[in-house]
Amino acid sequence: MVSSYFKNLLLKLGLPEERLEILEGKGALAEDEFEGIRYVRFRDSARNFRRGTVVFETGEAVLGFPHIKRVVQLENGIRRVFKNKPFYVEEKVDGYNVRVVKVNDKILAITRGGFLCPFTTERIEDFVNFDFFKDYPNLVLVGEMAGPESPYLVEGPPYVKKDIEFFLFDIQEKGSGRSLPVEERYRLAEEYGIPQVERFGLYDSSKVGELKELIERLSEEKREGIVMKSPDMKRIAKYVTPYANINDIKIGSHIFFDLPHGYFMQRIKRLAFYLAENHVKGEEFENYAKALGIALLRPFVESIHEVANGGEVDETFTVRVKNITTAHKMVTHFERLGVEIHIEDIEDLGNGYWGITFKRVYPDATREIRELWNGLAF
Ligand code: ATP
Repeated sequence: MVSSYFKNLLLKLGLPEERLEILEGKGALAEDEFEGIRYVRFRDSARNFRRGTVVFETGEAVLGFPHIKRVVQLENGIRRVFKNKPFYVEEKVDGYNVRVVKVNDKILAITRGGFLCPFTTERIEDFVNFDFFKDYPNLVLVGEMAGPESPYLVEGPPYVKKDIEFFLFDIQEKGSGRSLPVEERYRLAEEYGIPQVERFGLYDSSKVGELKELIERLSEEKREGIVMKSPDMKRIAKYVTPYANINDIKIGSHIFFDLPHGYFMQRIKRLAFYLAENHVKGEEFENYAKALGIALLRPFVESIHEVANGGEVDETFTVRVKNITTAHKMVTHFERLGVEIHIEDIEDLGNGYWGITFKRVYPDATREIRELWNGLAF
């Protein structure tokens, strides 16, 4: 239930009363509090309030980050999305999405789902120059947090060797969610020294050959892909490397039963389109086929062995925090997400940082494997 204070606020912000009632009826609005600031989170979209929107008690709204269209046939995809017009190409960094915003003199980091993340909020000052928010309190910095020490993902991009880093890829206005034009974002990021995703410059549909070479290189370098953006940010599309499709399958197969079947099917589909579009044949084709098979099967079989030997399906991850209380807040935060994690180890790393090792257990996947291993017939 949302308090009458927030109901009035949402009505004032333009959410029609009947929409508010529907959202409430299906539990799509969640009222919460983070370090003394109350907020409402949208678990579904309604009107211009996209899923993941957060409305603070101050009346400030940070809209959810929109879905980016995916192309799977690169050449035809870019023609269809961008016609013959130019578009900027940037790296698609493999991490988790955060929106960084100033509310009541606090800088807060919001996840894609609209949760205020205690870990990212604590660490964001290590990466972002807060002077930006003194000058632009009405703007939201949107970027990817990526690295091997992430609370949400088991791997990061190859060039982040330790810890985690922030990579800016969008700047939006509070309230409207409107993105600044690409060049304006590049300029502001440079002016304030905010780290950005790698930029590959302007392309258009006549340069598809060069774009394909870029994809090949990124794939060899074990990078995730590209995001293409018209200069005004009105048209955006993403394309993922064959490496990332296979690697995602490898990561997912470890927790096979915890993921929807579509997770695997989508990635196989994307890989098949890559192989078809580029006429991959012979030995190269065989190598992809083998890599896909191993990615799909090996971690899955390892998980079965683990459970058969009395263990469980789990994942271990390490993060660096400045206060041990942040680690405990992360356990509570994950509980809210319906995820069970335990602190396994705490290590003093010096320089005011603690290394925290968490274990995430997958009870449903473990149970399912155990039952099948024990001979469940169906
Ligand atoms: P959706 O399909 O709704 O976009 P998703 O999580 O399935 O969500 P992804 O395949 O993860 O989609 O791709 C979109 C995400 O890519 C963005 O939400 C953003 O966090 C991330 N990303 C990384 N680099 C960039 C970039 N340069 N520009 C835009 N997004 C980027």
